[in-house]
Amino acid sequence: KRILITGGTGFIGQVLCQELASRGWSLTVLSRQAPNIVKELCGPVQVIGDLGQTSGGAGFDAVINLAGEGIADKRWSDKRKQALRDSRIALTHDLVSAMESWATKPGVLVSGSAVGVYGNQGDQLVTEETSPNIEFTHELCRDWEQAALEAEKLGVRVCLSRTGVVAGSGGGFLQRMLLPFKLGLGGKLGSGRQYMPWVHRDDVVAALTWMLENEQARGPYNVVSPAPVTNAEFTMALARVLSRPAILPAPAFALQLMLGEMARLLLTGQRAVPARLEKEGFRFKYPELADALQDSVK
Ligand code: NDP
Repeated sequence: KRILITGGTGFIGQVLCQELASRGWSLTVLSRQAPNIVKELCGPVQVIGDLGQTSGGAGFDAVINLAGEGIADKRWSDKRKQALRDSRIALTHDLVSAMESWATKPGVLVSGSAVGVYGNQGDQLVTEETSPNIEFTHELCRDWEQAALEAEKLGVRVCLSRTGVVAGSGGGFLQRMLLPFKLGLGGKLGSGRQYMPWVHRDDVVAALTWMLENEQARGPYNVVSPAPVTNAEFTMALARVLSRPAILPAPAFALQLMLGEMARLLLTGQRAVPARLEKEGFRFKYPELADALQDSVK
Protein backbone atom coordinates (compact mmCIF):
# COMPACT_ATOMS: atom_id res chain seq x y z
CA LYS A 1 0.00 0.00 0.00
CA ARG A 2 1.61 3.26 -1.14
CA ILE A 3 0.56 6.71 -0.03
CA LEU A 4 1.62 10.23 -1.03
CA ILE A 5 1.47 12.88 1.71
CA THR A 6 1.77 16.67 1.49
CA GLY A 7 2.35 18.57 4.75
CA GLY A 8 3.87 15.40 6.24
CA THR A 9 6.55 17.41 8.06
CA GLY A 10 3.96 19.49 9.96
CA PHE A 11 2.60 19.37 13.51
CA ILE A 12 -0.13 16.91 12.49
CA GLY A 13 1.77 15.33 9.60
CA GLN A 14 4.71 14.03 11.64
CA VAL A 15 2.45 12.03 13.96
CA LEU A 16 0.33 10.91 11.01
CA CYS A 17 3.43 9.57 9.22
CA GLN A 18 4.37 7.45 12.26
CA GLU A 19 0.84 6.09 12.54
CA LEU A 20 0.57 5.23 8.84
CA ALA A 21 3.98 3.55 8.81
CA SER A 22 2.91 1.42 11.79
CA ARG A 23 -0.18 0.39 9.82
CA GLY A 24 1.94 -0.89 6.96
CA TRP A 25 1.66 2.04 4.55
CA SER A 26 4.73 2.87 2.51
CA LEU A 27 5.06 6.67 2.56
CA THR A 28 6.18 9.29 0.06
CA VAL A 29 6.30 12.86 1.42
CA LEU A 30 6.17 15.92 -0.85
CA SER A 31 8.26 18.62 0.85
CA ARG A 32 10.21 21.81 0.19
CA GLN A 33 12.78 20.68 2.75
CA ALA A 34 15.93 18.60 2.30
CA PRO A 35 15.32 14.81 2.29
CA ASN A 36 17.48 14.19 5.38
CA ILE A 37 15.46 16.75 7.38
CA VAL A 38 12.18 15.25 6.21
CA LYS A 39 13.35 11.77 7.23
CA GLU A 40 14.34 13.08 10.65
CA LEU A 41 10.82 14.46 11.11
CA CYS A 42 8.77 11.76 9.40
CA GLY A 43 10.81 8.56 9.75
CA PRO A 44 11.81 6.21 6.93
CA VAL A 45 9.89 7.79 4.03
CA GLN A 46 10.61 8.54 0.39
CA VAL A 47 10.95 12.26 -0.21
CA ILE A 48 10.04 14.19 -3.36
CA GLY A 49 10.41 17.92 -3.90
CA ASP A 50 8.22 18.18 -6.94
CA LEU A 51 5.00 16.58 -8.16
CA GLY A 52 6.73 15.98 -11.50
CA GLN A 53 8.59 13.18 -9.75
CA THR A 54 5.31 11.25 -9.44
CA SER A 55 4.71 11.05 -13.19
CA GLY A 56 4.93 7.78 -15.03
CA GLY A 57 2.15 6.26 -12.93
CA ALA A 58 3.94 5.90 -9.63
CA GLY A 59 0.96 3.90 -8.44
CA PHE A 60 -0.17 5.53 -5.20
CA ASP A 61 -3.15 3.82 -3.55
CA ALA A 62 -4.00 6.93 -1.54
CA VAL A 63 -3.13 10.60 -1.07
CA ILE A 64 -3.32 12.79 2.05
CA ASN A 65 -3.06 16.54 1.49
CA LEU A 66 -2.27 18.76 4.49
CA ALA A 67 0.21 21.34 3.14
CA GLY A 68 -0.37 25.05 3.73
CA GLU A 69 1.26 28.18 5.13
CA GLY A 70 0.41 28.70 8.82
CA ILE A 71 -2.85 30.62 9.07
CA ALA A 72 -1.89 32.31 12.36
CA ASP A 73 1.79 32.91 11.61
CA LYS A 74 1.63 36.44 10.17
CA ARG A 75 -0.83 39.33 9.83
CA TRP A 76 -3.21 38.89 6.92
CA SER A 77 -1.91 41.45 4.42
CA ASP A 78 -3.12 40.97 0.83
CA LYS A 79 0.21 39.34 0.05
CA ARG A 80 -0.11 37.00 3.03
CA LYS A 81 -3.66 36.05 2.07
CA GLN A 82 -2.39 35.16 -1.39
CA ALA A 83 0.35 32.97 0.12
CA LEU A 84 -2.25 31.22 2.31
CA ARG A 85 -4.35 30.57 -0.80
CA ASP A 86 -1.55 29.52 -3.13
CA SER A 87 0.00 27.08 -0.65
CA ARG A 88 -3.37 25.30 -0.37
CA ILE A 89 -5.57 25.89 -3.41
CA ALA A 90 -2.90 26.08 -6.11
CA LEU A 91 -1.01 23.15 -4.57
CA THR A 92 -4.19 21.04 -4.33
CA HIS A 93 -5.04 21.90 -7.91
CA ASP A 94 -1.55 20.79 -9.01
CA LEU A 95 -1.94 17.61 -6.98
CA VAL A 96 -5.20 16.69 -8.73
CA SER A 97 -3.64 17.54 -12.12
CA ALA A 98 -0.77 15.18 -11.28
CA MET A 99 -3.26 12.44 -10.39
CA GLU A 100 -4.92 12.96 -13.73
CA SER A 101 -1.63 12.06 -15.41
CA TRP A 102 -1.11 8.89 -13.35
CA ALA A 103 -1.91 5.64 -15.18
CA THR A 104 -3.62 4.24 -12.07
CA LYS A 105 -5.66 6.63 -9.95
CA PRO A 106 -5.53 6.47 -6.16
CA GLY A 107 -8.60 5.06 -4.38
CA VAL A 108 -8.90 8.00 -2.02
CA LEU A 109 -7.81 11.60 -1.41
CA VAL A 110 -8.10 12.85 2.18
CA SER A 111 -7.66 16.61 2.04
CA GLY A 112 -7.36 19.33 4.65
CA SER A 113 -9.85 22.02 5.52
CA ALA A 114 -10.78 23.74 8.78
CA VAL A 115 -13.78 24.75 10.87
CA GLY A 116 -12.99 28.24 9.55
CA VAL A 117 -14.99 27.13 6.49
CA TYR A 118 -18.13 28.03 8.50
CA GLY A 119 -16.90 31.54 9.35
CA ASN A 120 -18.07 33.06 12.64
CA GLN A 121 -21.11 31.18 13.99
CA GLY A 122 -21.69 32.73 17.41
CA ASP A 123 -23.14 30.10 19.76
CA GLN A 124 -25.10 28.18 17.14
CA LEU A 125 -24.39 24.43 17.03
CA VAL A 126 -22.36 23.75 13.84
CA THR A 127 -22.64 20.45 11.94
CA GLU A 128 -21.47 19.64 8.41
CA GLU A 129 -24.86 20.96 7.20
CA THR A 130 -24.54 24.46 8.67
CA SER A 131 -24.52 27.34 6.17
CA PRO A 132 -21.35 29.41 6.32
CA ASN A 133 -20.79 33.02 7.18
CA ILE A 134 -18.86 34.47 4.24
CA GLU A 135 -15.46 35.81 5.32
CA PHE A 136 -11.78 35.18 4.55
CA THR A 137 -11.42 31.79 6.26
CA HIS A 138 -14.64 30.61 4.60
CA GLU A 139 -13.43 31.53 1.11
CA LEU A 140 -10.01 30.03 1.74
CA CYS A 141 -11.36 26.69 2.96
CA ARG A 142 -14.21 26.57 0.42
CA ASP A 143 -11.81 26.94 -2.51
CA TRP A 144 -9.36 24.47 -0.93
CA GLU A 145 -12.18 21.92 -0.61
CA GLN A 146 -13.40 22.59 -4.16
CA ALA A 147 -9.92 21.99 -5.56
CA ALA A 148 -9.77 18.62 -3.76
CA LEU A 149 -13.29 17.62 -4.86
CA GLU A 150 -12.13 17.93 -8.50
CA ALA A 151 -10.51 14.51 -7.92
CA GLU A 152 -13.99 12.96 -7.76
CA LYS A 153 -14.17 13.45 -11.54
CA LEU A 154 -11.26 10.99 -11.78
CA GLY A 155 -13.25 8.43 -9.79
CA VAL A 156 -11.32 9.12 -6.59
CA ARG A 157 -13.15 9.00 -3.24
CA VAL A 158 -12.60 12.38 -1.56
CA CYS A 159 -12.83 13.10 2.21
CA LEU A 160 -12.41 16.58 3.69
CA SER A 161 -11.16 17.11 7.23
CA ARG A 162 -12.73 20.29 8.64
CA THR A 163 -10.26 20.36 11.49
CA GLY A 164 -10.74 22.34 14.71
CA VAL A 165 -8.04 23.91 16.89
CA VAL A 166 -5.51 21.10 17.38
CA ALA A 167 -4.03 20.46 20.85
CA GLY A 168 -0.90 18.34 21.14
CA SER A 169 2.58 18.53 22.61
CA GLY A 170 5.44 20.33 20.93
CA GLY A 171 3.61 22.73 18.65
CA GLY A 172 0.33 24.15 17.47
CA PHE A 173 -1.59 26.98 19.14
CA LEU A 174 -1.13 25.58 22.66
CA GLN A 175 2.63 25.93 22.42
CA ARG A 176 2.18 29.68 21.91
CA MET A 177 -0.18 30.00 24.86
CA LEU A 178 1.96 28.06 27.33
CA LEU A 179 4.58 30.67 28.21
CA PRO A 180 2.17 33.48 29.21
CA PHE A 181 -0.01 30.99 31.09
CA LYS A 182 2.96 29.49 32.92
CA LEU A 183 3.99 33.01 33.95
CA GLY A 184 0.48 33.61 35.28
CA LEU A 185 -0.20 36.10 32.46
CA GLY A 186 -2.95 34.07 30.81
CA GLY A 187 -6.57 35.04 30.49
CA LYS A 188 -9.63 34.93 28.29
CA LEU A 189 -9.60 36.64 24.90
CA GLY A 190 -12.15 39.39 24.37
CA SER A 191 -15.49 38.46 25.96
CA GLY A 192 -14.40 34.81 26.23
CA ARG A 193 -17.83 33.77 24.98
CA GLN A 194 -16.61 32.69 21.51
CA TYR A 195 -16.41 28.93 20.98
CA MET A 196 -13.12 27.08 20.49
CA PRO A 197 -13.71 23.79 18.70
CA TRP A 198 -10.60 22.03 20.05
CA VAL A 199 -9.47 18.50 19.18
CA HIS A 200 -6.51 16.41 20.36
CA ARG A 201 -3.89 15.67 17.70
CA ASP A 202 -4.17 11.89 18.29
CA ASP A 203 -7.86 12.12 17.38
CA VAL A 204 -7.06 14.14 14.24
CA VAL A 205 -4.58 11.46 13.17
CA ALA A 206 -7.10 8.70 13.99
CA ALA A 207 -9.87 10.50 12.07
CA LEU A 208 -7.64 11.01 9.00
CA THR A 209 -6.66 7.32 9.13
CA TRP A 210 -10.33 6.34 9.53
CA MET A 211 -11.27 8.38 6.43
CA LEU A 212 -8.40 6.79 4.54
CA GLU A 213 -9.24 3.20 5.39
CA ASN A 214 -13.06 3.36 5.63
CA GLU A 215 -14.38 2.84 2.10
CA GLN A 216 -17.78 4.24 3.06
CA ALA A 217 -16.41 7.62 4.17
CA ARG A 218 -16.69 10.56 1.77
CA GLY A 219 -17.31 14.31 1.82
CA PRO A 220 -16.76 16.77 4.66
CA TYR A 221 -16.22 15.74 8.30
CA ASN A 222 -15.95 18.07 11.28
CA VAL A 223 -12.79 16.86 13.03
CA VAL A 224 -13.44 18.42 16.44
CA SER A 225 -14.03 16.95 19.89
CA PRO A 226 -17.64 16.16 20.81
CA ALA A 227 -17.53 18.79 23.60
CA PRO A 228 -16.73 22.28 22.26
CA VAL A 229 -16.07 24.89 24.94
CA THR A 230 -15.98 28.67 25.01
CA ASN A 231 -12.68 30.52 25.16
CA ALA A 232 -13.37 31.40 28.83
CA GLU A 233 -13.94 27.70 29.66
CA PHE A 234 -10.82 26.73 27.73
CA THR A 235 -8.80 29.37 29.59
CA MET A 236 -9.98 28.09 32.96
CA ALA A 237 -9.24 24.47 32.05
CA LEU A 238 -5.70 25.32 30.91
CA ALA A 239 -5.04 27.38 34.05
CA ARG A 240 -6.24 24.45 36.18
CA VAL A 241 -4.00 21.94 34.37
CA LEU A 242 -1.00 24.27 34.83
CA SER A 243 -2.00 25.26 38.40
CA ARG A 244 -1.68 28.93 37.52
CA PRO A 245 -4.12 31.82 37.71
CA ALA A 246 -5.56 33.09 34.43
CA ILE A 247 -7.01 36.40 35.40
CA LEU A 248 -5.50 38.78 32.86
CA PRO A 249 -7.98 39.09 30.00
CA ALA A 250 -6.75 40.32 26.61
CA PRO A 251 -9.22 43.01 25.52
CA ALA A 252 -10.67 42.63 22.04
CA PHE A 253 -9.53 46.09 20.89
CA ALA A 254 -5.91 45.32 21.85
CA LEU A 255 -5.96 42.04 19.90
CA GLN A 256 -7.48 43.83 16.92
CA LEU A 257 -4.81 46.51 17.08
CA MET A 258 -2.04 43.92 17.29
CA LEU A 259 -3.32 41.35 14.82
CA GLY A 260 -5.66 43.23 12.49
CA GLU A 261 -8.20 41.01 10.68
CA MET A 262 -6.38 37.91 11.97
CA ALA A 263 -7.79 38.69 15.44
CA ARG A 264 -10.98 37.04 14.15
CA LEU A 265 -9.23 33.69 14.63
CA LEU A 266 -9.17 34.40 18.37
CA LEU A 267 -12.28 36.52 18.88
CA THR A 268 -14.83 34.56 16.86
CA GLY A 269 -15.47 30.86 16.57
CA GLN A 270 -17.66 27.88 15.89
CA ARG A 271 -19.53 25.64 18.30
CA ALA A 272 -18.71 22.78 15.97
CA VAL A 273 -19.58 19.15 16.73
CA PRO A 274 -18.38 16.00 14.91
CA ALA A 275 -21.90 15.07 13.82
CA ARG A 276 -20.89 12.82 10.92
CA LEU A 277 -17.92 11.12 12.61
CA GLU A 278 -20.07 10.19 15.61
CA LYS A 279 -22.98 9.03 13.48
CA GLU A 280 -20.66 6.84 11.42
CA GLY A 281 -19.10 5.18 14.46
CA PHE A 282 -15.78 7.01 15.02
CA ARG A 283 -14.69 6.92 18.68
CA PHE A 284 -12.66 9.74 20.26
CA LYS A 285 -9.69 8.93 22.48
CA TYR A 286 -9.88 12.42 24.05
CA PRO A 287 -13.52 13.51 24.39
CA GLU A 288 -12.69 15.55 27.52
CA LEU A 289 -10.71 18.80 27.43
CA ALA A 290 -8.94 18.33 30.78
CA ASP A 291 -7.46 14.97 29.64
CA ALA A 292 -6.47 16.40 26.26
CA LEU A 293 -4.73 19.38 27.90
CA GLN A 294 -3.02 17.23 30.52
CA ASP A 295 -1.53 15.09 27.76
CA SER A 296 -0.58 18.09 25.61
CA VAL A 297 1.31 20.14 28.20
CA LYS A 298 3.38 17.32 29.66
P1 NDP B 1 1.96 22.92 9.92
O1 NDP B 1 2.02 24.38 9.73
O2 NDP B 1 2.65 22.34 11.09
O3 NDP B 1 2.54 22.17 8.61
C1 NDP B 1 2.06 22.45 7.35
C2 NDP B 1 2.99 21.88 6.30
O4 NDP B 1 2.67 22.50 5.07
C3 NDP B 1 4.46 22.15 6.54
O5 NDP B 1 5.04 21.04 7.15
C4 NDP B 1 5.03 22.45 5.16
O6 NDP B 1 5.73 21.33 4.63
C5 NDP B 1 3.81 22.68 4.29
N1 NDP B 1 3.84 24.06 3.76
C6 NDP B 1 3.88 25.21 4.47
N2 NDP B 1 3.93 26.25 3.63
C7 NDP B 1 3.95 25.75 2.38
C8 NDP B 1 4.04 26.33 1.09
N3 NDP B 1 4.12 27.66 0.92
N4 NDP B 1 4.03 25.51 0.03
C9 NDP B 1 3.98 24.19 0.17
N5 NDP B 1 3.91 23.56 1.37
C10 NDP B 1 3.90 24.35 2.45
O7 NDP B 1 0.41 22.51 9.88
P2 NDP B 1 -0.42 21.50 10.81
O8 NDP B 1 0.23 20.17 10.80
O9 NDP B 1 -0.73 22.17 12.08
O10 NDP B 1 -1.79 21.42 9.98
C11 NDP B 1 -1.89 20.71 8.75
C12 NDP B 1 -2.99 21.34 7.91
O11 NDP B 1 -4.21 21.33 8.66
C13 NDP B 1 -2.68 22.79 7.56
O12 NDP B 1 -3.02 23.03 6.22
C14 NDP B 1 -3.57 23.58 8.50
O13 NDP B 1 -4.02 24.79 7.93
C15 NDP B 1 -4.73 22.64 8.75
N6 NDP B 1 -5.32 22.89 10.07
C16 NDP B 1 -4.53 22.87 11.20
C17 NDP B 1 -5.06 23.20 12.44
C18 NDP B 1 -4.23 23.21 13.70
O14 NDP B 1 -4.73 23.64 14.77
N7 NDP B 1 -2.97 22.75 13.67
C19 NDP B 1 -6.49 23.56 12.57
C20 NDP B 1 -7.23 23.48 11.35
C21 NDP B 1 -6.65 23.17 10.15
P3 NDP B 1 7.26 21.42 4.07
O15 NDP B 1 7.96 22.46 4.90
O16 NDP B 1 7.76 20.04 4.30
O17 NDP B 1 7.18 21.78 2.63
